[in-house]
Amino acid sequence: MSDIYPVKPDFAAHARIDRASYGRDYQASVRDPDAFWGKAAQRLDWYRAPTRVRDVSFAVEDFRIRWFDDGELNASVNCLDRQLGKRGDKTALLWEADDPGTASKHVTYRELHERVCRLGNALRALGVQKGDRVTIYLPMIVEAAVAMLACARIGAVHSVVFGGFAPNSIADRVGDCGSKLIITADEGLRGGRKVPLKANVDAALKLPGTSTVETVLVVRHTGAAVDMQMPRDRWYDAVVDAQPAECEPERMNAEDPLFILYTSGSTGKPKGVLHTTAGYLLFASYTHEAVFDLREDDVYWCTADVGWVTGHSYIVYGPLANGATSLMFEGVPNYPDYSRFWQVIDKHKVTIFYTAPTAIRALMREGEAPVKATSRASLRLLGSVGEPINPEAWRWYYDVVGDGRCPIVDTWWQTETGGILISPLPGAVDLKPGSATLPFYGVQPALVDANGQVLEGATEGNLVLLDSWPGQMRTVYGDHQRFIDTYFKAYPGMYFTGDGCRRDEDGYYWITGRVDDVINVSGHRIGTAEVESALVSHPKVAEAAVVGFPHDIKGQGIYAYVTLVADEVESDELLKELVAHVRKEIGPIASPDFLQWAPGLPKTRSGKIMRRILRKIAENAPDQLGDTSTLADPSVVDSLVKNRHGA
Ligand code: ATP
Ligand code: MG
Repeated sequence: MSDIYPVKPDFAAHARIDRASYGRDYQASVRDPDAFWGKAAQRLDWYRAPTRVRDVSFAVEDFRIRWFDDGELNASVNCLDRQLGKRGDKTALLWEADDPGTASKHVTYRELHERVCRLGNALRALGVQKGDRVTIYLPMIVEAAVAMLACARIGAVHSVVFGGFAPNSIADRVGDCGSKLIITADEGLRGGRKVPLKANVDAALKLPGTSTVETVLVVRHTGAAVDMQMPRDRWYDAVVDAQPAECEPERMNAEDPLFILYTSGSTGKPKGVLHTTAGYLLFASYTHEAVFDLREDDVYWCTADVGWVTGHSYIVYGPLANGATSLMFEGVPNYPDYSRFWQVIDKHKVTIFYTAPTAIRALMREGEAPVKATSRASLRLLGSVGEPINPEAWRWYYDVVGDGRCPIVDTWWQTETGGILISPLPGAVDLKPGSATLPFYGVQPALVDANGQVLEGATEGNLVLLDSWPGQMRTVYGDHQRFIDTYFKAYPGMYFTGDGCRRDEDGYYWITGRVDDVINVSGHRIGTAEVESALVSHPKVAEAAVVGFPHDIKGQGIYAYVTLVADEVESDELLKELVAHVRKEIGPIASPDFLQWAPGLPKTRSGKIMRRILRKIAENAPDQLGDTSTLADPSVVDSLVKNRHGA
């Protein structure tokens, strides 16, 4: 079942990292991490170079994670100032609007530097100091990156809140970190629809716990009329444009906080993940360069929103620290039509494209025609992140989008990890559809059983990391004990990822889903990813989600929710056919007990399937759905509850 796509010789010939050097450097990185990361730290510009590399203990009673802790630097200087010499006129950010009729923007490194400096000065003038928290609630516009970098420049800690969140969620996040200032816009635009950002902030600031906010800076984006409450609310341009174009950067310690970011909430209440300056920036830039095999003339596009960690590490910090051209897209994949991604690729001659399985499955559902209407000849590398990618979706991405030409890097990582931990390096590692393959330098994954016993060889278990890497989160903001309890208690001395995983005979890692989602049927542990991928491999299925429910005889039974490809019709015959299909693909043990048609699946706002909600629906406990504030479309849940089996 695991077919192999060997490294293409023509790709390897020009790649930064080949098979031999990956093998050699990986070994060196885990044998002597101090030497490896000490050298890697030279990729950053320091005011004061660190003399210590790491000081780490995962032991609960003597816990610490510190990297480069006597070093001093500034993240915005690394992303901007040091590019000015060679790359001042190079496009740093390439902005593509929601509406294809709106002109795109090319912001050079020099312009970006100026804009960041002006905002940095404005923030200081408004009383924001080193260590203060600033919430950024913006659409995918250039100001979002400017705001992040301006905070970094003056040592303020940014907390970006995804522009799709409602007032309650904004208030929670503002309150949790005690933000002093919010940067927002009049409105956002997504798929032709207006998002009332400023009005949402107004509503959020009426809620309890938000009284720390002194100032709201409002970017004029759509030009809509919005309520301005003086003196709290200030127009961004009025405050920023008159500021000087130079701004003295704050000298930051390596371990000073860079940002707080709340996780996407697939498994419960979001956690305020805190990342610090040097380790994070080093890891984001190194992984970005190596995993995407970055070249000077690449046009690199990551479709994530800056509201997620992927946007932080792989739209802003990693690419800019590497002097790359990073494309920022305001819109959505299906507006004005299902060709949009591919049109944007052709328009800007994108060479590297990084997106999520949820988008790939949604586009696959519409068939090949919208893809084939475009050229995509500029592409040379594809990437995936966010969920396990079903092998069927992988092949479609490879064959249809990449015309069989471009390697796919399936990158496994988390908000908590700051950057990519498991992924192929495209010139070094043969690909297997559905596998994130092998660890990045310095990363030591292991699989453990329920007792924390490390399992060897080809096996399946809970995915842990045995040692630290520079991009590791340092704490849950305001609740260090929660950090230790969540990640270091389950298996003493190890970081527990919460994900289940299989390792095959070649040492390749296959994420099987969240450990909480694993289904135990008559004593057999079944990963959700495997059953879902079997369903998706049926030509009429676009997307599937599988959960367990209490079963008198088997302990747990399997309940599947299935979305069909466009124009396919739900029928009892097809239902039987799908159950038989899973039986054939995996075996009788995995055949679903119930299968429910799902016109849509409950997803987080970052597009991940929320199985914990589907589990409650399957268990007929719709009153116990838990935290649903990160749900993208709550109406999906109502319709699933109504049409539940036995309802
Ligand atoms: P929360 O932690 O609040 O429940 P979340 O885990 O969805 O939310 P993220 O940090 O955005 O928050 O997601 C990380 C998770 O996404 C990983 O733990 C893993 O389950 C999944 N994931 C990310 N990339 C991949 C990938 N390439 N393959 C498989 N799973 C992936
Ligand atoms: Mg998580």
